[in-house]
Amino acid sequence: RLVRLRARLARSNALGRGLLELLSRDKLDADTWDEIEETLLMADLGVDPTTELVDRLRERVTVLGVRDVDQVRGLLREELKALVDPGEGLDRSLAVDHAPGRPAVVMVVGVNGTGKTTTVGKLARVLVAEDKDVVLGAADTFRAAAADQLATWGDRVGVPTIRSDRDGADPASVAFDAVKAGIETEADVVLIDTAGRLQNKVGLMDELGKVKRVVEKHGPVDEVLLVLDATTGQNGMQQAKVFSEVVNITGIVLTKLDGTAKGGIVVAVQRTLGVPVKLIGLGEGPDDLAPFDPDAFVDALLA
Ligand code: GDP
Repeated sequence: RLVRLRARLARSNALGRGLLELLSRDKLDADTWDEIEETLLMADLGVDPTTELVDRLRERVTVLGVRDVDQVRGLLREELKALVDPGEGLDRSLAVDHAPGRPAVVMVVGVNGTGKTTTVGKLARVLVAEDKDVVLGAADTFRAAAADQLATWGDRVGVPTIRSDRDGADPASVAFDAVKAGIETEADVVLIDTAGRLQNKVGLMDELGKVKRVVEKHGPVDEVLLVLDATTGQNGMQQAKVFSEVVNITGIVLTKLDGTAKGGIVVAVQRTLGVPVKLIGLGEGPDDLAPFDPDAFVDALLA
């Protein structure tokens, strides 16, 4: 996985190459530091993290009088790692171990097109590979195609999909039925796909909040995963905030990292929401979901 992650990120990743090129200049003058800053901003690291990183790196390089490129690279790696993985209780494990008598319930939320349904499908596959019994809930009832797409993933992975047979059914009631089916069949995990029409912000908020409240009649929701498309970079942050106002997000899934040089968004989103990135999407295929590993990620950024 690490090798694949490196290869995928490196293909589209201007960050590592650009930075290392700049850092290997004979003279690290003010212009060069500006360019380094610019490169980090282009990677969507965000203004504050970028300033912090550059200030710290510059200080360390100056104080230590480091000239050796490998050493500078090592310092850069340390500083990036500190931003990507600030520690502070960012628990990246998925709460998919159920309590006695009921399945773990995972809600997947996010704006349409970010990769929610695909993520649910891939995650189901990961869980099935771990010998877990999974039920999918198609609570995006607005578009019939959404439920069809989820059911296709269900078939592919070999797990049942609970859906409504009519368009526009109450999403909360489908989610409720999915968890009910999970309880009745003694499933381990219920994954609920939700709608994400951001055009109607108030409606969406009401709907998601209601889905969660109704599901909670069966017991607590164990994870609320927010799916963000990494290619939207900082623009995704506003969406992230909207969702976090409606439901208590417990983890981020950053999708489409295979197609972007904007991996710096990991830092921004964790800071803004105070929630860890738990999973990353690296393609459209069933095996293209990986746990987020900060070390591997930083290595890939600098590949
Ligand atoms: P939803 O509307 O949020 O449910 O989004 P979908 O799951 O339908 O995904 C939207 C598009 O993004 C589809 O074409 C997916 O195949 C694609 N997609 C999802 N995740 C990834 C990813 O990690 N990498 C790439 N390259 N494409 C992805």
